[in-house]
Amino acid sequence: MVNMVEQQDAGEDIVIAGAGVAGLAVALGLHRKGVGCVVLESSPVLRTSGFAIAAWTNAFRALDALGVGDTIRSKHLQIQLACVMSPTTGDVAREIDLRVQGKCGPNEARCVQRNVLLHALEEELPPGTIRYSSKIVSIDDQDGDGDGDAKILHLADGSILRAKVLIGCDGINSVVAKWLGLAKPSDSGRRATRGHAKYPDRPWLRAQDAAVQRPGLPRGLGPVQPHRRLLVLHMVSFSYSGR
Ligand SMILES: Cc1cc2nc3c(=O)[nH]c(=O)nc-3n(C[C@H](O)[C@H](O)[C@H](O)COP(=O)(O)OP(=O)(O)OC[C@H]3O[C@@H](n4cnc5c(N)ncnc54)[C@H](O)[C@@H]3O)c2cc1C
Repeated sequence: MVNMVEQQDAGEDIVIAGAGVAGLAVALGLHRKGVGCVVLESSPVLRTSGFAIAAWTNAFRALDALGVGDTIRSKHLQIQLACVMSPTTGDVAREIDLRVQGKCGPNEARCVQRNVLLHALEEELPPGTIRYSSKIVSIDDQDGDGDGDAKILHLADGSILRAKVLIGCDGINSVVAKWLGLAKPSDSGRRATRGHAKYPDRPWLRAQDAAVQRPGLPRGLGPVQPHRRLLVLHMVSFSYSGR
């Protein structure tokens, strides 16, 4: 019989599964409080694909608490005006001025590029915090000493890691959620796409012109970069029947 203790890493107090937005934010929050942790990420590199995420006032409060709010602000335009567009005509049906005070203080909204956000969080972590190519395949709570106070993580490369605390941030098909016995995610029947286009001149007019003219299709447009060649985030969501 293989001796499990010999195969095990030294063990970690806190292990976070997944280096997505959630995993890196938790790791950085702990680091700011002086608490070390290890983040296990299945991918060999940070998964920075995708384009941008619409982040509002509360998201910026969280980013400020993590100490990266101003880094993110400096790379993204603040949205001044939200336009609700008619799904039938494509005309602007309502404008919401985001420069006025909201119920809980000033509004703040930006379309934050996913790669910029992930790198900003990663760069603030101590070197070696994220362990790439470290996919958790199964979890045991039997650590062999009988007191059940550690989780045993089995990784895809055959290695075993012992963790006192395991935090699941491993996305929609979470191994941690499965181990906890949480219900599988259910399909809401809604799909959403994100894309971008460059509008160097008169961005809003051109962006609205380019919007898909289809009845019943909610969509949004948001400015992204504070450069001359402005990128606009296109967001479209729709019901999906499987066809
Ligand atoms: C590649 C990608 C691109 C996206 N692009 C956009 C976008 O353009 N606009 C938008 O609004 N939203 C986008 N999203 C969605 C949005 O970023 C996330 O859904 C949201 O931020 C939730 O983040 P999360 O950290 O909870 O989960 P995720 O972002 O899904 O991160 C989970 C992480 O855990 C890792 N992981 C999973 N299983 C294991 C395991 N067993 N062991 C170790 N690691 C594991 C994954 O590789 C991943 O890095 C994207 C998501 C992804 C994954």
